[in-house]
Amino acid sequence: MSEFDLIARIRARFPSPPAPELGIGDDGALLVPRPGHLLAVSTDSLLAGVHFRAEDPPADVGHKAAAVNLSDLAAMAAEPAACLLALSLPGADAGWLDGFLDGLGALARRHGMALVGGDTTRGPLAVTLTVLGWVPSGQALRRDAARPGDEVWVTGTLGDAAAALALGEAADPWLLARLRRPEPRCAAGLALRGLAHAAIDLSDGLLGDLGHVLAASGCGADLELAALPASPALCAAVPEAETRWRYQLCGGDDYELAFTAPPERREAVRAALAAQGVAATRIGRIDQRPGLRLQRPDGRLWPPPARAWQHFADPP
Ligand code: ADP
Ligand code: MG
Repeated sequence: MSEFDLIARIRARFPSPPAPELGIGDDGALLVPRPGHLLAVSTDSLLAGVHFRAEDPPADVGHKAAAVNLSDLAAMAAEPAACLLALSLPGADAGWLDGFLDGLGALARRHGMALVGGDTTRGPLAVTLTVLGWVPSGQALRRDAARPGDEVWVTGTLGDAAAALALGEAADPWLLARLRRPEPRCAAGLALRGLAHAAIDLSDGLLGDLGHVLAASGCGADLELAALPASPALCAAVPEAETRWRYQLCGGDDYELAFTAPPERREAVRAALAAQGVAATRIGRIDQRPGLRLQRPDGRLWPPPARAWQHFADPP
């Protein structure tokens, strides 16, 4: 198969959006802008040997490529519209491509996201997805919008993917699914428009990711370790609380949302998320004093453990 056969194979599965819009096949895609909205744009790469193993099921890789990118749109409160796929493949492996498109396509369709273009090259196995989504002007959830007095919330549970990674194939299947098939919190992000101040998606671990919000907003936070939401599967697999806190604070790949909202919106936040079937937990409070303080159940402070995942970090 040639480059053009591969593109034709992709195009056959992702038909063009209705006219006047245009998808795969021309020099560029054409999209109709939505009046009164801003276009949120984000991109994330997955590299074999760094983010996944070349032998992983291709449908899992496709799912994850869509999920990690949709998660960024969710954290901006943007509604997914379209995406572009830059593929680097070591060979024209139709089986791998089909499996990959199964995973990517299923999640993209569920979120109303069209594939409208991309690029196909030969090289080390790598996938870069660029996603586009609409958000009403003034309603995007930005990292720099947390204010002292806000409460800090997270959706779902934390630390599941980190535990799955640590335990490997021996892990509980539910935990493994949290690592391999994360569900981006798009509905939750949209439901938080007009309610939350700041938001971020948890890709690299709560400590690091919430740290970005605090730095951008020029404030600090106090968190209660006992409040960090843990799944029954995590508690069963990791009975020791301090180990669990480490997974919950430093483990990447949760793809939950962390957000801040003023206390008077507490019930509105809970109701808006419950209507989407999403559980949310208050884990602390934003404070003027810079830094992140972790309070143990006995009231003592717990020193923050090693940092969140970072590419190019100095070796320990
Ligand atoms: P050009 O030479 O103009 O860059 P290409 O031959 O790279 O065009 O691409 C032809 C068409 O196929 C374009 O519409 C492009 O967006 C689309 N395309 C190429 N690779 C992919 C891909 N991996 N996924 C989706 N669309 C793709
Ligand atoms: Mg090209």
